Amino acid sequence: MNAPIAIIGTGIAGLSAAQALHAAGQDIELFDKSRGSGGRMASKRSDAGSLDLGAQYFTARDRRFVEVVQQWQARGWVAEWQPSLYNAQDGQLSASPDEQLRWVGSPRMSAITRAMLGALPVKFSCRITEVFRGDRYWSLLDAEGNSHGPYSHVIVATPAPQASALLAAAPKLAGTAASVIMDPTWAVALGFDSPLDTRVEGCFVQDSPLDWLARNPSKPGRDTHLDTWVLHASSVWSRQNLDLPKEAVIEQLHGAFAELIGCAVPPPSFTLAHRWLYARPAQAHQWGALADADLGLYACGDWCLSGRVEGAWLSGQDAARRLLEHLQ
Ligand code: FAD
Ligand code: NAD
Repeated sequence: MNAPIAIIGTGIAGLSAAQALHAAGQDIELFDKSRGSGGRMASKRSDAGSLDLGAQYFTARDRRFVEVVQQWQARGWVAEWQPSLYNAQDGQLSASPDEQLRWVGSPRMSAITRAMLGALPVKFSCRITEVFRGDRYWSLLDAEGNSHGPYSHVIVATPAPQASALLAAAPKLAGTAASVIMDPTWAVALGFDSPLDTRVEGCFVQDSPLDWLARNPSKPGRDTHLDTWVLHASSVWSRQNLDLPKEAVIEQLHGAFAELIGCAVPPPSFTLAHRWLYARPAQAHQWGALADADLGLYACGDWCLSGRVEGAWLSGQDAARRLLEHLQ
């Protein structure tokens, strides 16, 4: 029997592994607890258009990722974003232009993972709760009590705190995943009927509840009927205010934004808050991916490298490479 490979998670790490395995002629099946793909690169459809609430843009530094991003650009999945960049420190806003190439999904961040998924077999709204191995094959159990399988191998491509339980069959991998601390991020979107009177389109922020702000319509292909802004709180503020009601988060971050942006900020006509519980690993690692090749269990995700889109993609490639090497 030729059993397929199961991949849990359709963020960019899981899809990177899926594409590499599919290209090598392997059958795969993907699972995600959400209704769609993308994970932290997902975009939220709203009355104010599509909003990138998670990853804002990404950079490409590793040669392999640079090459793949060029292919994505040629297919129209990504476009360059050239915001008018600022930096805010101690409440002082200053222009901070640089030469860095920054990429965004086109026309929304989720376009990338949507295109990567293509026609690959996937089960959405399916939260995997257990991964277990019989004599030869793996099976998965979901939160509804359904079992899936048999599979020849399993790749767990979820954030580390969610991966550790799914890696229980390989205690060493489970322990490594359990040791990773991931910090939360509160994200708030504000929409204004008239454009704010500022040149800021992206801003790195220090010494504030905020960490980052972006003017969504400045990204290529976005809805422009409202002047929408995405604000990210710092890890420290997000952890301190983890259980604050959404209305209070919106009020406080709107206040911090109004103080910082240096122009009149009217009451927004659209607001939205989203809490990312496992937004970013507290530190980078050099693991590539985790593997128990004899068992056939693997883990990948941004937490295995840098907590960035590029790190997640590279980690998925590494998991697939290790699995394919062991097949030979
Ligand atoms: P994820 O995208 O988290 O994918 C994991 C998937 O697994 C999810 O779809 C989830 O639903 C699924 N899943 C979890 N548990 C289960 C389960 N039990 N069963 C089934 N499915 C499950 N990076 C940058 O490079 N630039 C940025 O500007 C940037 N900004 C960011 C801002 C925020 C607010 C956040 C949250 C992240 C940001 N990042 C940024 C980081 C970037 O988004 C991540 O590094 C990257 O998207 C992680 O991809 P991943 O595939 O490892 O994990
Ligand atoms: P990058 O090179 O644009 O930014 C890296 C860091 O360098 C920034 O965080 C900022 O501190 C600094 N920086 C870069 N350009 C600057 C400028 N013109 N002026 C002032 N400071 C500047 O991109 P990257 O290395 O791909 O990093 C990805 C970004 O994603 C980072 O900003 C990171 O904070 C963010 N991120 C956020 C989360 C979250 O949960 N909020 C999670 C993962 C990554």
